[in-house]
Amino acid sequence: MRNQILNFIRLNVSVLSILLGFLLFLGIQQFDSQHELHAQPLSESGTNDKVVILNFDDNRLSQFTQVKPILDKYGFKATFYVVCKYLDNKKGYMNWTELETLYKEGHDIGSHTMNHANLSDSSKKSLEYQIGRSKECLQEHGINATSFAYPFDKGSDNKPYTKNAKLNYANKYSIRGWSHDLSRRENSYDDSALYDRFIQVVNSQSEYNKNGTIKAIPIIIYHRAGDKLVDDYNTDLDLFDKEMKYLHNGNFTVLTISDLGYDEKSNSLYIK
Ligand SMILES: [Zn+2]
Repeated sequence: MRNQILNFIRLNVSVLSILLGFLLFLGIQQFDSQHELHAQPLSESGTNDKVVILNFDDNRLSQFTQVKPILDKYGFKATFYVVCKYLDNKKGYMNWTELETLYKEGHDIGSHTMNHANLSDSSKKSLEYQIGRSKECLQEHGINATSFAYPFDKGSDNKPYTKNAKLNYANKYSIRGWSHDLSRRENSYDDSALYDRFIQVVNSQSEYNKNGTIKAIPIIIYHRAGDKLVDDYNTDLDLFDKEMKYLHNGNFTVLTISDLGYDEKSNSLYIK
């Protein structure tokens, strides 16, 4: 099983793992020079300096029924971090057919463990199950997961494999995103204030990205949208539509996590 983890990370994750739930964006401020994001110009004209990645956590059903039609309207693809045991098993969550539809339509599917475990104090065996087995679980349904997200933003600082506390393959390269929902909760934002903050975050890259060279990419993390049953960690559909419209009208390029690669030689991330 350990080899499966290593292969997962090495071959497919491009040695990226994703930390969720923190207000940061990928860039040279958060990464030291070794982890600076180098990238190729996105267009031949080299003028498109605005890039964003949209992540959705926990395979909530509303992501399929409510979010997807809006993404479709603007032609955006997102990355969905899914919990394997929730699929076909839990009310209010996507089933395999829905997930496979997302994947076939070009969305990126990543692993978010087998059962949403907190990995902060996990044994090696448990990590193998939660990380390695969840990769296999998706593979059995024809889905090639190329990245992994830690539930609860916990566990990336585990150092279970090395005696000298060197980071291992599962957590050597990690990136963070801005949690839309956590930001609302921590700041008691209403929709209007959250929209303003969204605009700030997606434009925070502008000081780093010049002349088509991308060094920073804001990653926006959502959980639910348009969910009638809950308020917490849920984005009103009108707000979500407004945010996507902002990206569309502002000519942002929307990438997925699987569009990022890791160059071992230069020790840097790049856009494939
Ligand atoms: Zn989660």
